[in-house]
Amino acid sequence: MSHHEIIMKKDKKIALVAHDHKKRDLVEWAKYNRDLLAHHALYATGTTGTILEQELDIPINCLQSGPLGGDQQVGAKIASNEIDFLIFFWDPLEPLPHDPDVKALLRMAVVWNIPMACNRTSADFMISSPLMDEEYIRRVPDYNTYRTRRLNWQDDD
Ligand code: PGA
Repeated sequence: MSHHEIIMKKDKKIALVAHDHKKRDLVEWAKYNRDLLAHHALYATGTTGTILEQELDIPINCLQSGPLGGDQQVGAKIASNEIDFLIFFWDPLEPLPHDPDVKALLRMAVVWNIPMACNRTSADFMISSPLMDEEYIRRVPDYNTYRTRRLNWQDDD
């Protein structure tokens, strides 16, 4: 499959999401990295964002709470290139009402080839990468073949 290139600017569009038992972890991580995060555009699901805004004292674009559609909003923003970096501390030990949304969000991050950290160690490695402060050319599969496949639907018997 061929690819096309999407430019990730020096200042990234970062989404932060944490499930309830992971919020403490994310807040600690974000406070430690506050200055590194501050010059990026930050988005978060509702409750995560409200807590982070209070704790970091930097503006966060708060979306809907995760179980009420926030995860889906983040996924939609990834698909429309309004978010290009995901920190998602999901909880592997808790059944959640919005499990399909969680899976969909993880899937969108892979479909659009954005960096995604699902635990603190990955987040540490990613935030300290020199690429955080550089423009980066992200290669995304050229989905035009996929998009146009429906044009042939009448040929199928
Ligand atoms: P919340 O949502 O930030 O509103 O708690 C997180 C999630 O459950 O995806």
